[in-house]
Amino acid sequence: MRIGRDSTSTLKALICESLGTKNAFLFANGRGAMSFLLQCMTKEREEDHKDVVVVPSYTCYSVAASALKAGLKVLVCDIDKKTLSYDREQLESIDFNTVLAIVSSSLYGLPNDLSSLEELARAKGVYLIDDAAQCLGATVDNRAVGTFGDAGILSFDKGKVITSMNGGVIVTSNKTLSRRIEIEHEKIENQSLLSRATDLAKLQAYFILLHPSLYWIPSNLPFLKLGETIYNEDYEVQNYFEALAPIARSQYTRIDQMNEHRRLCAASYTSGIHDTDLIECISPLAGSAPVYLRYPLRIKDDQIRRQFLYDYNSHGCSVSYPASIADVPEIRSRILVHNDRCEGGRIVASQLVTLPTHAFVRESDIERICSGLSRSERNSDTPQ
Ligand SMILES: *Cc1c(COP(=O)(O)O)cnc(C)c1O
Repeated sequence: MRIGRDSTSTLKALICESLGTKNAFLFANGRGAMSFLLQCMTKEREEDHKDVVVVPSYTCYSVAASALKAGLKVLVCDIDKKTLSYDREQLESIDFNTVLAIVSSSLYGLPNDLSSLEELARAKGVYLIDDAAQCLGATVDNRAVGTFGDAGILSFDKGKVITSMNGGVIVTSNKTLSRRIEIEHEKIENQSLLSRATDLAKLQAYFILLHPSLYWIPSNLPFLKLGETIYNEDYEVQNYFEALAPIARSQYTRIDQMNEHRRLCAASYTSGIHDTDLIECISPLAGSAPVYLRYPLRIKDDQIRRQFLYDYNSHGCSVSYPASIADVPEIRSRILVHNDRCEGGRIVASQLVTLPTHAFVRESDIERICSGLSRSERNSDTPQ
């Protein structure tokens, strides 16, 4: 018991030090942390009756689930398909009177337009949640992603920057919000014994399968998926399992090396892939230093995209979230879509492909994937 407590406080200290935030609160997962944070924000602003959460038209389904779970309304705002960040014009045309918070997404390690999101949120008097679940270690204007706005969210789930199978964090330097979170956090429960035992078993399998001596680029491994690609609101807000803390901590101390490898992979993809009428890479925003959890690009022809995914799935190339948040069947009738627009999100959902950058991806893997993309290109030129 003591050992567990010590290692969670070391983990928290490490997070705060590396990000430069005052407080970190640990949860069983990122979606629980997000839902809990939104509840605390609601309580802070109880008198204002603000109950709308703005989410991007393309992001992890858990983000929308967290807001709905917290009893709030989801307002989907479209994104720019070239950057995956909010469509600025759309965002600014929102009536913020009933808005509680804006949530960023920073998918695949590419930071959103966080400096200007922070400015907008401040000007409109709404919270900004800097969702850094996929972007830990990246910066914008030399400031760590996760520290923009009023609070940030981290995740230690499968397929994130670092993983202890499960885990979520709220980071914040906002004093009143911290005090509120501290009080409420005392009340939450631990995971069941069964789910803790399952975590340990999964953890073991994960590291055995990822061991270099068993080298292969895992594909279709159900627990390597990036976030939830099926909608699920059925989870509890619970405490982080303390026994996992040493695993998260030991990866955290190597995070720069791990991200450096991801950046090198991304640089190789960038030099091997040229934007054409068929293929377009996602552009990092000016002032940002991405970490490239995966390398995203769009293949604009549906048939060619399908063929590429079919041929290269075993090389770790895969789709991401299959639909825009506006089109998730389970919640479509319960959410609002700003200006009825989600074209950017829909295009991204139908065209996005993500390439692997994890620790076991080698230069030869990247060359093979790049030549597969060139072949797609040539096939698209051939008159049928
Ligand atoms: C994974 C993810 C979450 C939720 O984290 P979990 O730990 O999986 O619950 C939230 N936002 C984004 C962008 C994510 O990728």
